[in-house]
Amino acid sequence: MHEIVHQYFYGLVASNEFEEAWLDEGFTSYIEDKIMADAFEYQPAPAVEAASVFVPEPLVLEGWKYGSSYAYQSNVYVRGKLVLHEIERLIGWQKMQVALREYVRRFMYRHPTTTDWQTTLEDVTGQSWRSFFDAYIYSDFMQDYSIEAVATEATETGWTSRVELAGPVEERKLVLQVTFDDGSKRDLSWNPATDNKVTFEHDSPVRSLQLDPVPYKVILDHVRANNNYQVRSSNWLASWLSHLLQLFSQLLGW
Ligand SMILES: [Zn+2]
Repeated sequence: MHEIVHQYFYGLVASNEFEEAWLDEGFTSYIEDKIMADAFEYQPAPAVEAASVFVPEPLVLEGWKYGSSYAYQSNVYVRGKLVLHEIERLIGWQKMQVALREYVRRFMYRHPTTTDWQTTLEDVTGQSWRSFFDAYIYSDFMQDYSIEAVATEATETGWTSRVELAGPVEERKLVLQVTFDDGSKRDLSWNPATDNKVTFEHDSPVRSLQLDPVPYKVILDHVRANNNYQVRSSNWLASWLSHLLQLFSQLLGW
């Protein structure tokens, strides 16, 4: 499938394989994902693939300047297509098709560069993509969201927990999923553009926290381990003891 798509990206739209390889391999791998999902019901797992990008590097880089063949492969192919998946997430599949069609229409039998793709995207969407391209295409930026710290305080009826979160300041809604000791779960919403913490009240101790749980919404997060927070047994014991103390105090009317 991949090689068939190269008839378009590299064959028809003849970008420079040596100096901007992502325009061939990233585009081809992205369209390959779309066809595999559409025709063969193979669902790509971009977030899982992002985890294989250990060494992010810019996408606009001469092929021979990548640190290793692994770095070349994981950036040009994987990170390249994930960036396109992310553009699709931001503008929707319908607009993405318009942009790709327009890019092919303008540049078939020619030799476009990354700037040409950016200009096409800007013309189709009517917005600037400069900061996006600067971060993800001209630089090695990834969307590493993480749970930084969790602080829990006892209240009259249970606890209040404050979760500190970090990651790119982008307007988006991320789910922070809390699993309590009684097995119940609660989905909280976090917008990185407006806050760096989420506070919530609860009457069962917190067992674990997961930022952006399955099905993943963040495409370019290559470090998933820091999206999880397991409450340590000592913390759990402390919480449980304070809960018990609280119960006693209520019972005894302290
Ligand atoms: Zn290829």
